[in-house]
Amino acid sequence: MSERNLVLLGPPGAGKGTQAQRLVDDFDLPYYSTGIILREAVEEQSELGREAKQYMDRGDLVPDDLISRVIAERLDSGEADDGFLLDGFPRTIGQAEVLERAIDERGRSLTAALLITAPDEEVVRRLSGRRTCAKAGHVYHVEFDPPKNDGVCDQDGSRLIQRDDDRPDTVRKRLSVYHDQTEPLIDWYEERGLLRRFDGTMTPEEVHSRIRATLATLALEAEI
Ligand SMILES: [Zn+2]
Repeated sequence: MSERNLVLLGPPGAGKGTQAQRLVDDFDLPYYSTGIILREAVEEQSELGREAKQYMDRGDLVPDDLISRVIAERLDSGEADDGFLLDGFPRTIGQAEVLERAIDERGRSLTAALLITAPDEEVVRRLSGRRTCAKAGHVYHVEFDPPKNDGVCDQDGSRLIQRDDDRPDTVRKRLSVYHDQTEPLIDWYEERGLLRRFDGTMTPEEVHSRIRATLATLALEAEI
């Protein structure tokens, strides 16, 4: 069987999390979100985890090289022999180069960089309409999934709030960081023939089935 070594790209709010969950379920792939694997390394108190913790405790960014070594450790653990799904790393060309080296050194290669796109206005509309229940984190959307009573959680009656991350000005700031840092990465993967684009304004089901079809084609090509 061919490996599925995948990177997920796209702006916040394009539906990456939903698609990641489905791919993980479909193919039983380990899901490597940078935040999660760093936290796990810290909890396990591995040597790399202790190193990462020093940066995190100071509120500093964990260096690319260290993140890539944490990912490499997971690649060597056996759990990712059939593939993996990376989300949130790489975000920059520098990180992509570090990652490529780590994968190369293991005699493996990336299968595809899956890019889920969405226009800025759509991202702002999706994220800034989100309301989260203050008590249990139940999520609503003022437009797409409103609660029965304005500002009140259907499930437990607690107050619905807008998280700071979902405020329109914060969303626009996150989008501008994405455009500056991550868009050059899209060209970088395109030049390597690894980029596959998906329109995140389609329904999650449609995006999912297109990703499945693309991966099936890539698997066939790998066998030839
Ligand atoms: Zn609730």
